[in-house]
Amino acid sequence: MPFQTLELHPTILKSIIEIGYSEPTPIQSAAIPIILDGKDLIGIAQTGTGKTAAFVLPLLTRMMQEKKENEIPRIRFLVVAPTRELVVQIEENARAYAKYLPLKIATIYGGVSERPQIKALNEGADLVIATPGRLLDLLRGREKSFSRIEYLVLDEADRMLDMGFIPAIRQIVKLLPRERQTLFFSATLSREIEKLTHEFLRDPKIVEIGRRSNPAETVSQFVYEVPHHLKQVLLIHLLQHDHYNMVLVFTRTKHGADRIAQRLEQNNIKTATLHSNRSQNQRLRALQDFKDGKVRVLVATDIAARGIDVDGISHVINYDFPPHHEDYVHRIGRTGRANAIGEAISFVMQEDHGALRSLERFIGRGIVRKKAEGLNMNVQAPTPQEASRGRSRSPSASRDSFQKRPSAGDNAPTKKTGYRFFGEGRRRS
Ligand code: AMP
Repeated sequence: MPFQTLELHPTILKSIIEIGYSEPTPIQSAAIPIILDGKDLIGIAQTGTGKTAAFVLPLLTRMMQEKKENEIPRIRFLVVAPTRELVVQIEENARAYAKYLPLKIATIYGGVSERPQIKALNEGADLVIATPGRLLDLLRGREKSFSRIEYLVLDEADRMLDMGFIPAIRQIVKLLPRERQTLFFSATLSREIEKLTHEFLRDPKIVEIGRRSNPAETVSQFVYEVPHHLKQVLLIHLLQHDHYNMVLVFTRTKHGADRIAQRLEQNNIKTATLHSNRSQNQRLRALQDFKDGKVRVLVATDIAARGIDVDGISHVINYDFPPHHEDYVHRIGRTGRANAIGEAISFVMQEDHGALRSLERFIGRGIVRKKAEGLNMNVQAPTPQEASRGRSRSPSASRDSFQKRPSAGDNAPTKKTGYRFFGEGRRRS
């Protein structure tokens, strides 16, 4: 079905065609007619399914249908999303779709000065995209500016719930007009989420794309068994392959992310990090460098990586096994976006086996186990004394752990690696 059949505003269609979308994704085909019809909607869809366009395109169309000539901008459309990165991405998409429309867009998020955001609100905006905390701060005392909202979108509602934003959302919604169209997007529909939909929506239609817990079908999933002290060696080993050209690595902690980035840089692999110890500007720069190909690897923690919308990620690597199954689904949804092919790789230690089996039940399929050809997994962990001196038990453990094989197939290293292996003690990163 071509986009032309969806009754979108002609100038929006023009931008979509320029961007290069040839046809709507399933969530777009299903949701756009319902939204154009003015109905409330619950969209159950993973990121990477095209859900941002699924709500932005029809709501921009509705705004244009009801916009009067020379009207002073007023906030008519509010999107609330859990993280700054997601807000910035929705903004980027909305600006591209609204390229030929006379609409003003403003963003509101924490971690940066309030002043420009207040100025943008005072100057008038048609569409505001915001994180809940800062929005609530700015809303108080400015209720009037938000009193004519016609369209409200709550994006990634399940993550907002996980991050404790629901009380803030309740307060925000209380300050908005009751007469509005509300859309609610979530990757999963738990009982708690379902309860929230009764609070915020009126007689909603539900659109569900794919099975609730099913990661994107376009992502191939693999597991590598690896002891903790060889995780870095394995990561560097995999990164020797040229087809690992845009790699997102997930770690459990910020310090773990920094340590890995440092080690990769020591091995001449250009790397950036994305976690909450970094300033907003550093995070945006890291994302931009990754998008522009200035760095090949981005190491991130779960929260910081919410909603990363970067096309062309070839591999997602779960360096640390994800703490929740939903995190796994979100993490691997960063690759294989909008029907591109991607690979998701998880490093699994002995102690993760139970969690892996439980994850396989959750996603309803087994995950292929792979062996790192040419990597000797029997190298012993360094003693704490050796670790503190920055050496492994065997002085050349890295080289011992990597046995060159001339034709080791897919896992064969492409270059002489010169691995440097520093023990990290026995703690998990
Ligand atoms: P989202 O699920 O909104 O994060 O979108 C994932 C990616 O799909 C984004 O990079 C969009 O630019 C892209 N996308 C959205 N709609 C389409 C479409 N109809 N055709 C191709 N790509 C799309």
